[in-house]
Amino acid sequence: MMSERTSKPSVAILGLGIMGAGMAGRLLSAGFPLTLYNRNREKCLPFAADGAFVASAPREAASRADVVISMVADDPASRNVWLGESGALAGATPKSILIESSTLSIAWIQELATKAAECGCRFLDAPVTGTKPHAASGELLFLVGGCEETLDAARPVLAVLGRETVHLGPTGSGALMKLINNFLCSVQAASFAEAISLIKAGGLDREKAISILNGGAPGSGITKRVADRLAGNDFSPNFALRWMAKDVMYAIDASLSKGVSLQTAAAALSILQQSIAQGYGYEDFSAVAKLSQHRSG
Ligand code: NAP
Repeated sequence: MMSERTSKPSVAILGLGIMGAGMAGRLLSAGFPLTLYNRNREKCLPFAADGAFVASAPREAASRADVVISMVADDPASRNVWLGESGALAGATPKSILIESSTLSIAWIQELATKAAECGCRFLDAPVTGTKPHAASGELLFLVGGCEETLDAARPVLAVLGRETVHLGPTGSGALMKLINNFLCSVQAASFAEAISLIKAGGLDREKAISILNGGAPGSGITKRVADRLAGNDFSPNFALRWMAKDVMYAIDASLSKGVSLQTAAAALSILQQSIAQGYGYEDFSAVAKLSQHRSG
């Protein structure tokens, strides 16, 4: 349903965490009629003051929108917002475009796409790269799986949220690309954490050693981000460590289903899990560098 006030499609966002909140702000500023749902309703209230409608359930949110975007934590959260009596699929209008932008397992994306088709809706998996500031400034990169025609119909909305949208193939292709991306990020973060442990244990000057690594061949966007956070001792989350661990788990599942073994992903996952056990799961993923590893004998 096109809004009467504007020719812009009406949009619903399910999930107002770090990423969903930035996306909601962008759509409001661009004048899209916006409906919001978040499990914890409080997070919707600042946007209501700026004109967003706050729905009491995903079902209500979807019933008001041409385009429904989900940006929630993980597979169980996505299941929760889409399925069930008050889920978005129960309220979505046939032909509406349903976009799952959370980073999720391939198996769940395939199941969700099937359920969306049964409801007569169009579906895209469209996870993103970029983090908190990119969501807030509309500079995400969308990695899209699904029908190209559906993507073209969704472009006016995605253009406000992202700097670029790449179509990777059929349903699940965007999700797979995102898991491969985050598998590599996690391995780099985990190996950098191990390097820092050795720098410390070996009595090297941390600042000098990090500067050599980041100024040379091993330096990457990820190692530089971790080093910056370590230098400022600021681990407030842009991307929570527990979600990085979740992504590696989904990447390992995806690889197994395709007969590939991601051995470095398994090692990175173990390091992230140790960080979670040390209480860093809700901090930025860069907190992996705080992991204290003591090996005796
Ligand atoms: P976040 O700040 O932790 O927000 C998580 C969102 O999921 C919140 O809205 C939360 O609701 C909701 N949620 C969690 N469990 C739920 C459940 N069982 N039922 C319904 N809603 C539930 O996470 P985020 O950083 O925005 O990330 C969202 C997604 O984007 C994740 O899949 C993440 O991997 C992916 N991603 C994140 C980044 C990043 O840099 N942050 C970048 C790319 C992709 P409440 O507020 O009620 O808890």
